[in-house]
Amino acid sequence: MSEILVLVEHVDGEVKKVTLELLTLARSLGTPSAVWAGPSFGPDAKAKLAEYGAEKIYVDASSDVVDYVVAPKAELLASLVSSTSPAAVLVAATAEGKEIAGRLAVKTDSGVITDAVGLGEGFVADQSIFGGGVNVHSRVTKGTPIIAVRPNSTAPVAAAGAGTEESVSITVSDLGRAARVVERVKQEKGARPELTEAAIVVSGGRGVGSAENFSVIEGLADALGAAVGASRAATDAGWYPHQFQVGQTGKTVSPQLYIAAGISGAIQHRAGMQTAKTIVAINKDPEAPIFELADFGVVGDLHQVVPQLADEVKKRK
Ligand SMILES: Cc1cc2nc3c(=O)[nH]c(=O)nc-3n(C[C@H](O)[C@H](O)[C@H](O)COP(=O)(O)OP(=O)(O)OC[C@H]3O[C@@H](n4cnc5c(N)ncnc54)[C@H](O)[C@@H]3O)c2cc1C
Repeated sequence: MSEILVLVEHVDGEVKKVTLELLTLARSLGTPSAVWAGPSFGPDAKAKLAEYGAEKIYVDASSDVVDYVVAPKAELLASLVSSTSPAAVLVAATAEGKEIAGRLAVKTDSGVITDAVGLGEGFVADQSIFGGGVNVHSRVTKGTPIIAVRPNSTAPVAAAGAGTEESVSITVSDLGRAARVVERVKQEKGARPELTEAAIVVSGGRGVGSAENFSVIEGLADALGAAVGASRAATDAGWYPHQFQVGQTGKTVSPQLYIAAGISGAIQHRAGMQTAKTIVAINKDPEAPIFELADFGVVGDLHQVVPQLADEVKKRK
């Protein structure tokens, strides 16, 4: 089977869930090889990548590949594309992954597809475009298919691979060294999952009514082990921080379950969440456009519905 390169996303030496999803997808289309950039590779990461099917793990342990923002990672992948002639390269459709994909496409004179939410035979990608109004199937027609896949596009399934480690190295070009990371500041992280990676997202909108009332949304999120999101109306009002905004000018999420409470369902909000597998809307207006999109809807006051829902979830644990 043909080799498929999967760029590993990792933090502090830990493999992120999206990489396990990409390995699972790659396994259905060929033989996955993981590509690790940076010095933090260790036995735990190796075991995790092998557990999810990586036959090979290319490791460039030099700090150069992570100290100059994204350019060296694209150079590393380009060098591997040239030496291994893979059938495709998969990266996570994160802000960084998409930039790497674009740069890699230019370097290898290949086509690139970003924000794929599925991938099938012949590397045909499913994409949701025009703010989610149209679904398209796309295929790269030139060079090596380079595909950036959104987190949560598939469920990660373990299936052991050999996990054979192979050291690789590149000399980062002068252009690749044009911007250097001078400091890394760890963001305080709560117990909740990261918004773009979470399997469940509970979002609140203007209907929540105030910053204090967001505790209702947080209560349901914590009962479900979910991330909290917000509409722009809520973040603009200062009720919830902007980094949690979902939508066209916020984060794009594609969870298994998206619960929208007190959100009308404007096109700009939909653009960030409508590829969620199941959408539940709670809104007191039965005519709210979000119900056109929802798989399940509750017409009611969120201040009554959401706490009851959280209580029911807790009872079943
Ligand atoms: C260029 C541009 C970019 C934008 N980008 C984004 C973006 O990234 N993300 C985004 O979200 N928006 C974005 N917007 C704004 C977007 O157009 C909407 O204004 C916004 O999404 C509305 O947020 P909302 O649904 O919370 O508020 P509203 O549209 O005011 O809806 C509030 C809803 O809450 C319901 N409600 C009220 N009280 C209750 C209650 N007690 N219980 C239950 N339901 C209740 C109401 O019936 C209503 O449906 C953008 C707009 C522009 C022009």
